[in-house]
Amino acid sequence: MAIIKCPQCAKSISDKQKVCPHCDLDMNDLTEEKLHSLSKIKSLKNSQSIMTHQAIAMLLFLMGVFTFYNSDDKTAPQYFMSQACIVVGFVWYIINRIRIIMSKRKKS
Ligand SMILES: [Zn+2]
Repeated sequence: MAIIKCPQCAKSISDKQKVCPHCDLDMNDLTEEKLHSLSKIKSLKNSQSIMTHQAIAMLLFLMGVFTFYNSDDKTAPQYFMSQACIVVGFVWYIINRIRIIMSKRKKS
């Protein structure tokens, strides 16, 4: 008996098990084609979540810039908030760009 990873939910299961107890994936039904499409779906979902994060980071950054240039009162809390938004949004955006590059490198 060996422990393998379920191709769908990536949880550890026994290779004697015919159906994954975590996600009900039928192990007998697994073909090369199905495994391929499963890994494709997984990487698609992953890149989708990165894209969502990137969009939020971009929005945060733009909102920060907008508030920054539209606040006359430099001591107002919004002014400091906008600066924080710019920094956080920018760093978040960079992190997501790195994640995209890393995931692309892994594929090739
Ligand atoms: Zn599973």
